[in-house]
Amino acid sequence: MQGVLYIVATPIGNLADMPARGTNSLQQADIIACEDTRHSRHLLDAIAVDKPLLTLHRHNEQGAARVLLERLRNGKNVALICDAGTPTVSDPGASLIDLARAHAIRVVPVPGPSAAITALSASGLTGNRFYFAGFIPSKDAARREFLSAAGKQECTTIFYEAPHRIAATLLAMNEVYHKDRVLVIARELTKMFEQIVRLSVGEAPRWLSADSNHGKGEFVLLIEGALDSSVAVHWREMARELMAAGVSSRDAAALVAKYTGAKKKQVYRFLID
Ligand code: SAM
Repeated sequence: MQGVLYIVATPIGNLADMPARGTNSLQQADIIACEDTRHSRHLLDAIAVDKPLLTLHRHNEQGAARVLLERLRNGKNVALICDAGTPTVSDPGASLIDLARAHAIRVVPVPGPSAAITALSASGLTGNRFYFAGFIPSKDAARREFLSAAGKQECTTIFYEAPHRIAATLLAMNEVYHKDRVLVIARELTKMFEQIVRLSVGEAPRWLSADSNHGKGEFVLLIEGALDSSVAVHWREMARELMAAGVSSRDAAALVAKYTGAKKKQVYRFLID
């Protein structure tokens, strides 16, 4: 009988987030495929799992997948994990899963944390529909082009970003998006210095430089959908113009709410801020 391939999500920072079913699957595995054995050993020690490890990373994925397929065909159970979160979400593993499926191996997902969903859940942006854009390119022109294309999505859009590129990305967002567009920056999720801030694209570079700690750690960035943002920009512009014409903030909020469908309280808060 062929073995089973378990796809096991692991914590994104807080070891207490390791799901019980994930731990069981790792205990049932004969081999655990991971990106970095030293990194994963730390988690496995914490949950008292002692199994042979085999590395599967971006640079050896095809070869490692063939080795693991042989083990699966010989009846061994294999668990696939990554350094953090859900395997194959901006991480390797898809080739192994594809190969296993092609050989009728049973693939069992064991769900758990993922930085994108964790950030979305606490962002306050709608998650009814969302677009996961993944990592942003590091070269200036490619970054702008990528942000511009992703920014046309009408739903919430989620990016991953690294600390050494966050400043350049926030500046590029300022060039590409309307400055009033809502941006949520989620850093160090589930860790000691977790921070989730909701601001506008225009405010983001100042927020970053206000405290050297703001640029540290791992980042998920979320922008509101293009449809929301064009409506939001429209009401904000209208509200500003009414105020500039001498209308009181209370009356301006009432007028904007009446003609745009924006919430009166939200407009009023925006104007007094
Ligand atoms: N497979 C992982 C998942 O399911 O989220 C993602 C792996 S990807 C190689 C690593 C990126 O995920 C980081 O650069 C960062 O953008 C994001 N990330 C991972 N852990 C995070 C955390 N604790 N807080 C914020 N972002 C995180």
